[in-house]
Amino acid sequence: MSDKELDMQLPTPPYPWQEKLWASLAERHSGGKLAHAFLLSGAAGIGKFEFLRQFARLILCLQPENSKPCGHCHNCQLGSHSEHPDVMIVAPEEGARDISISQIRDLGDFVSHTSHSGLAKVVIINQAHRMNIASANALLKTLEEPSQKTWLFLSTDLPGYLLATIRSRCQRISMSVPSLEITARWLGQFLGPDEDATALLAATGCRPMQAIELAASGSLQERHQFVASLLQSYASPDAADKLVSQALKIGPLTAIEYLSHCSSTLIKELASDGSDNQADELTRGAAQRLRDFDAARVLKLLAGIYQESLQARKQLLSSANPMPQLILESVFWHWVQLGRRIQSH
Ligand SMILES: [Zn+2]
Repeated sequence: MSDKELDMQLPTPPYPWQEKLWASLAERHSGGKLAHAFLLSGAAGIGKFEFLRQFARLILCLQPENSKPCGHCHNCQLGSHSEHPDVMIVAPEEGARDISISQIRDLGDFVSHTSHSGLAKVVIINQAHRMNIASANALLKTLEEPSQKTWLFLSTDLPGYLLATIRSRCQRISMSVPSLEITARWLGQFLGPDEDATALLAATGCRPMQAIELAASGSLQERHQFVASLLQSYASPDAADKLVSQALKIGPLTAIEYLSHCSSTLIKELASDGSDNQADELTRGAAQRLRDFDAARVLKLLAGIYQESLQARKQLLSSANPMPQLILESVFWHWVQLGRRIQSH
């Protein structure tokens, strides 16, 4: 969570938009049919990690109640504040760009040792796409030799960046971005009176955990300013420098995420004839202006920008010493050329 912690206690998962997936996994688990490795994919910021962490508690619970962890058995108690010793969470370490090979080796050790409880062991790899080649190859060994009563859950918003050999050894499950109606109601319960759930959700593409972070960081206004600049500049080649300097100020990764979000929201808005109510007013206005042009061409160019923003995000996160300014210049240069390229055919 960012600068300012929100004074809120989040409820226990599964959240309303996760209940179906929970029920299906819980049923497989109680029937002894849980695959040994899962790959959970879904957009960033919809609570995948929180979901898996709670599901690990269910796997370890001695007396589940209605397919939920009971909260009071020995294992639930052990896992209530920090992680249960039979649960291992792997994620990029603070400041590191990758999940390192030594983290995956530790995982291998964890998996090969006997469990503390004698019941089960659970490993969650958060942001699994951030394994580098060496760590991904090390994980393959673990996936190839499943240990008894050990479950692995990989979580990612970029499943395409994982090795195909890893993907094929996991059972695929996915979590969808919830609707505005569901999330606004959910978020509204614990936001302060001066916080606007709908505006936060519109700004984050209905991704509740990101909406919470945005509220906590107090940067909704800053986000509005940057997105407004973006949406006004897709046809102003002179604006690239200004966008880059704004992006450096708010953080290259955040800026690129806004561009991804902007382009995907524009695509949805244009492809849905404006009936997609997830877009905010600024985006709807920009989409309206783009409707004057050849729709297929606009969509194709926007899809190109979207892909490029994903690629830029990957570069910014990669271990290969990225140069944020160069990456931003390239992406925003293409963005400000969008108008010219739309009209040039
Ligand atoms: Zn329990």
